[in-house]
Amino acid sequence: MAEVQVELRHVTKKFTTKTLGDIVAVDDFNFQVYEGECFSILGPSGCGKTTCLRMIAGFEDLSEGEILLSGRPVSSSRANLYVPPEERDLGMVFQAFAVWPHMNVFENVAFPLRIRKVNKAEVERRVKQALQHTSLTGLENVYPSDLSGGQQQRIALARAIVTNPKVMLLDEPLSNLDPHLRETMRFELKELQRKLGFTIIFVTHDQSEAMALSDRMLVADMGRIMQIDTPENLYNRPINRFVHSFLGESTFLRVVIRDGQVYAAGDLEHPLGVTPPPNAAPEMILATRPNAIDITGSTGYQTRIETRIFLTDRTEYLIPVGDQKVKVQTPHRIAFSEGNSCWIRFVDPMWYPVEDTDEEKERARRQLI
Ligand code: ATP
Repeated sequence: MAEVQVELRHVTKKFTTKTLGDIVAVDDFNFQVYEGECFSILGPSGCGKTTCLRMIAGFEDLSEGEILLSGRPVSSSRANLYVPPEERDLGMVFQAFAVWPHMNVFENVAFPLRIRKVNKAEVERRVKQALQHTSLTGLENVYPSDLSGGQQQRIALARAIVTNPKVMLLDEPLSNLDPHLRETMRFELKELQRKLGFTIIFVTHDQSEAMALSDRMLVADMGRIMQIDTPENLYNRPINRFVHSFLGESTFLRVVIRDGQVYAAGDLEHPLGVTPPPNAAPEMILATRPNAIDITGSTGYQTRIETRIFLTDRTEYLIPVGDQKVKVQTPHRIAFSEGNSCWIRFVDPMWYPVEDTDEEKERARRQLI
């Protein structure tokens, strides 16, 4: 097992706001990130991603808990300990950390070494190496305004790796780039990590980006950790409704469970033909993905195609089930017309309790921000 590089123990951060009272931006975060791992923190706006990263970086103190880097405490509310950012051996590419327009590429990248008073020959050597790794060789004397968005992003990356840090903190580092460039940079970032072996903690609200880059992901909502797992497990086994709908497309169905049969709300005569979960409640939410509903067989629940929508890479059908509708997506070669009768079968669905109203209220309160 790789060594633990970053550890958060019961980390909490509260802010007092004028209009909304106390906001717990980060609520009892506990997790470990291993050496060489790419770990992303994912969640909707306001879930606490940036606050969490800023606490690891040392820009924000903690209301409670402690943070350890390579086993060494660097922030601790109890011990009133705060190691300053520049002594944490971290590289950072933050959204707000733009490149400096008044410095050429060389000076931008050399900056972290200059503040560490590294000697001239060593600065030359390290900057050269960082520029090589980020494909910027030859642009040393150019000013950032003469470069493309992708090249400017590379300058920020070169500046972050020039000190050879063990951990890289990235806050939406690709968000200013166009989609094509984002994909290229993703690949380059992974390559760089493979070559240099640093650990990445990556903050984003873009789920496909997180899925493509991460070994494990943390999904947060309203300052709370919802689930930490591999991208595959998060997609296939989301722990609650929030995680299910946050990662990929979801179809939720209110169901009634009676005498070992599952019925869609609104049709208590025809069972859906799925096995209820162990310890089923009388009413639950059945959750599935639009591509995990089979409409080609002749078992399950009989209904009809209400609407057919042609999408670029698949066909989507809206299908009534009880008093609700489910969305089903199939490859184009599976063709049904509107009005066709069909059977739907839910393949390996997930089950969740009916919505937690306290959480809903808190979500509504925070959306006022
Ligand atoms: P985004 O994706 O929009 O950047 P985020 O997930 O990074 O969001 P944070 O910026 O960490 O979220 O904010 C979490 C919560 O803490 C929000 O409700 C935010 O308004 C609040 N917050 C963050 N910083 C402060 C501050 N300095 N003072 C008061 N409240 C703050």
